[in-house]
Amino acid sequence: MIVCIDPGHVGFDSGNVNSGRKETDYTWPVSLFFQEALVRCGIQAALTRDKNKPYSFGSLGEELSDRANFANRMQADLFVSWHNDSFTNPEANGVAVWICNAARGTETQEIARKIVDAISAATGQTNRGVRIADYAVLVQTNMHAVLIEAGFASNPEENKKLADPEFQKMQAEAAARAVCEYFRVTYIPPAESQPAGTPIIGTAQATVEQAQTFFEKKTGLKLV
Ligand SMILES: [Zn+2]
Repeated sequence: MIVCIDPGHVGFDSGNVNSGRKETDYTWPVSLFFQEALVRCGIQAALTRDKNKPYSFGSLGEELSDRANFANRMQADLFVSWHNDSFTNPEANGVAVWICNAARGTETQEIARKIVDAISAATGQTNRGVRIADYAVLVQTNMHAVLIEAGFASNPEENKKLADPEFQKMQAEAAARAVCEYFRVTYIPPAESQPAGTPIIGTAQATVEQAQTFFEKKTGLKLV
């Protein structure tokens, strides 16, 4: 079971900016929490970029294609892109998961449904459901591919939540639980929420780095 995690935006493309907060400052930590959760559950998971640098296969200016290529080369079973939303009406709020037109009515839609339901249930956010759009990373990946719009940064209340590491963890764990449920992998909660006496499961960080290195070698990618 292999998951490719895509933290939306990097470098000059910081995504939306609301109340001084950049979308990319949200997508990076939530993706790390998500990776840590998946690896803890025994799922191989790697990120499509470094914190401040994209990976490249030599096609500068085609950064989104590189992200999709990374997922294709690592032969992922699932691609999950993390983003947050922005809208002119500051009251807009809630979480949605997007799939491409070709995935309508497929198993990908089932996975998207599970993820959006799990995040909404865990955080109490408005459930905006599964939505359809032909985003480049969804169309160019050749596995189940979903894009999470995890909340509206243009909504002052939701913006504050999205910047809170505890809230990011809640979203990441919910998404990981949904992925585990769909792929019939046993979900292992974080060590601190396990009852006393439960054996501690390795240090997640080491395993996360190992997973990342493994896929960097497998895909032959380069940081630019
Ligand atoms: Zn975005």
